[in-house]
Parts: sequence; structure tokens; C-alpha cells
Amino acid sequence: MCQSPVQPSPKTTSPQGEFGEVLENYKRICENVENAKAKYRSSDENIAIMAVTKTVAPEKINFAISQGITLLGENRVQEYLSKKDQYDKTAQVHMIGRLQTNKVKYIINDVAMIQSVDSVKLAKEINRLAAKNNRIMDVLLEINIGGEESKSGIAAEGLDELIYEAAQLENLRIKGLMAIPPIGCGEDMFDRMHSIFLRVKEKAVPNVSMETLSMGMSGDYELAIKHGSNLVRIGTALFGARKYLEG
Ligand SMILES: *Cc1c(COP(=O)(O)O)cnc(C)c1O
Repeated sequence: MCQSPVQPSPKTTSPQGEFGEVLENYKRICENVENAKAKYRSSDENIAIMAVTKTVAPEKINFAISQGITLLGENRVQEYLSKKDQYDKTAQVHMIGRLQTNKVKYIINDVAMIQSVDSVKLAKEINRLAAKNNRIMDVLLEINIGGEESKSGIAAEGLDELIYEAAQLENLRIKGLMAIPPIGCGEDMFDRMHSIFLRVKEKAVPNVSMETLSMGMSGDYELAIKHGSNLVRIGTALFGARKYLEG
């Protein structure tokens, strides 16, 4: 469920407050999520709101955490490493960006989940380093649902093979699926993701628990919730426009 924002401190109630806009945005997002849930989902379902932090200053991120955000999404290993020491540690961090095998070692002890697993090679490296560090890593498998060449994620046709291989890795736990559907594709892609999610869930593969369906961003999270998402990843709608173009 959406955490309701904590009672704002006097400083942040002022519209002139440095991060007042973030608080207003967060309240609105919570409302929208609650409304979408009331409309499309059952009341006992939990829908997590992740704050996507790329290009956002740690102070602003920490403000969002102080208002109730408990989950951060990181895209770039380099950027995360430069900011993580300044983060309020009460929030969990998930890696959501394309992850090169040789960078897993930099994040293996800091993140609670890796949402962007899209190859057996990457799954094996995460497993190897998780074992070495005495931990189990929760992962989501990322599907390139729009079949876009520029996007990360495994083709939907390759998913069963990836599940089969990754499910055997002892220090990895498959917790669900993630997707970044093409912008403006409407509901069709969300619906397809939901079908795949339910199909895998039904198969009840050992070591695979389909708990999380991570989809929906600033422009389409309500639609994603309509189609089964229970983790929405919000950047610009929470923090405002990003300062530079994404690479
Ligand atoms: C940037 C990003 C988001 C958030 O995008 P917004 O449109 O700013 O909400 C979500 N997921 C991933 C993987 C991203 O890279």
C-alpha cells in the first residue's frame, strides 16, 4: 500500500520550502495510486511506489524518504556509487538499469534487489558474487516486451529458458518480472506482461515466486496498475524534469 506522507514538518508545509514541490508531487502520486487501486484492484493488494533517482541530488532523495518513500530505484552503477554514502539508509535500493556483468561486484552488498536481470550470464554472475558475500539476492527478470532493439530485457520467447536456468542458482531468488514498455504503446503491452506474469505464477516453479510485477512510470503508472503492476517506478512525476538527457 502507498505510505501516506508523514505529517509535514513546519518547514516543508511552506510552498516556498526547498522541496515543497516534491511533497506536493508525492501526495498526488499517492492519491492517484490509491484511486487506481480502488478502481481496478482489490483492497488487500499492496502497490509499492519506487522513487527513481537518476540525476536527482541526494538531499532531495532524502527529503522524499523523510516524507514516506521507502524504495529507491537506481539506473547507473557509477552514479549510484557516487551518491549512496549520502543516502538515508532507511530506504531500500533496487538496481533497475541495464547492468553489465563486470559491475555486479560494486553493488552486490548494497542493493536489496536487482530488477534488470535479462541473461543467464548476468544471473550466474550475481549468484556467484552473492554466494561469495554470503547472501541471497532477490531479482526480477526484465522482459523487453516491446521487442525494441535499443532496450534491455530478454525477449518474451526467451523467458522460460532464463527462468529454468536462473531457478537453479542457489543464491538467487526470482521474485517476479519487470518491463519498460515502449512509450505510448497503450495498454496492450501491460496486458501482455500481466498474462506472462500469471502464466509463470501458475507453473509454480521451485525457487520462483511471482510476487512482484514492476511496471509503470510517471506517464502511465495508473494504466500499469490496471494491468496488475504492484511496483511503480516514478522519476519525473516525483522529482521534476531531469536535468540532462538520458544516455
Ligand atoms: C527513468 C526510469 C524510470 C522513471 O521514469 P519517469 O518517466 O521519469 O518516471 C523508471 N524505470 C526505469 C528503468 C527508468 O530508467
